[in-house]
Amino acid sequence: MAKVWFVGAGPGDPELITVKGQRLLQQAGAILFAGSLVSEASTRWAGEDCEIADSKGMTLEQITAWLIEKAQAHETVVRLQTGDPSLYGALIEMVQPLDAVGIASEVVPGVSSAFAAAAAACESLTLPEVTQTVILTRVEGRTPMPEGESLQELAQHHSTLCLFLSITLLNKVRNALLAAGWHDDDPVVVVQKASWPGEEQIVRGTIGTIREQCREAKIAAQAMIIVSPTLGARHWPELKRSKLYDADFTHRFRRAEKLK
Ligand code: SAH
Repeated sequence: MAKVWFVGAGPGDPELITVKGQRLLQQAGAILFAGSLVSEASTRWAGEDCEIADSKGMTLEQITAWLIEKAQAHETVVRLQTGDPSLYGALIEMVQPLDAVGIASEVVPGVSSAFAAAAAACESLTLPEVTQTVILTRVEGRTPMPEGESLQELAQHHSTLCLFLSITLLNKVRNALLAAGWHDDDPVVVVQKASWPGEEQIVRGTIGTIREQCREAKIAAQAMIIVSPTLGARHWPELKRSKLYDADFTHRFRRAEKLK
């Protein structure tokens, strides 16, 4: 029976797709990729006869119509999504019409740009006794934020914030962070095109400076903003050690030295 696979392509580097995602691309009779972000290189795995299309200019209705049509002709149809399909990917809007006509679908996760950005900058999004929480969110743009989820409210936790879809709204980001008790000299890192071969750009600054720095670096799209009390920890002289590797800490795979 035909199946439509929603495959996370990863953040841009074609090597960051999963092994399973790569196999499905090789098997696919038809692939629809999200042209605006997924590098065309991701389709390099496709077979010779595979029908490949870019959804850049399509409406949601055209996308689902395409997937349904191709599922009549092919066993394996892939909708290639940027990063992980569960984040800002209109996944449910595409799955529902398939459900309605009885076409099976399945999701293959991918490396989100939040993690590719952290990797690019060699930052840890959690650190013992600094923050143990990561909030994946955005500031309000054309899509309204549900009640209780304004950046000002979420930022009050002083945990790590990964901001998607917000690079053109750095003024709003700053205002919300300051209102939540952050300071202009708190660190921020912006990564544009994280993991894209030869195109990645990392800008380190502060809440007060980052907007001007991004303007100078001409970063206005495809960028992840990370605000976190963990930023720059690589250069801290002292660090609370993770309990996982602490000699006094027993866990499932290792007994603490003292107990031996
Ligand atoms: N599902 C995707 C997010 C799609 S929303 C994921 O999991 O990554 C699109 C937003 O993701 C962009 O506005 C940008 O904030 C971020 N983004 C996607 N790819 C990126 C990349 N390679 N580098 C930095 N940010 C990226």
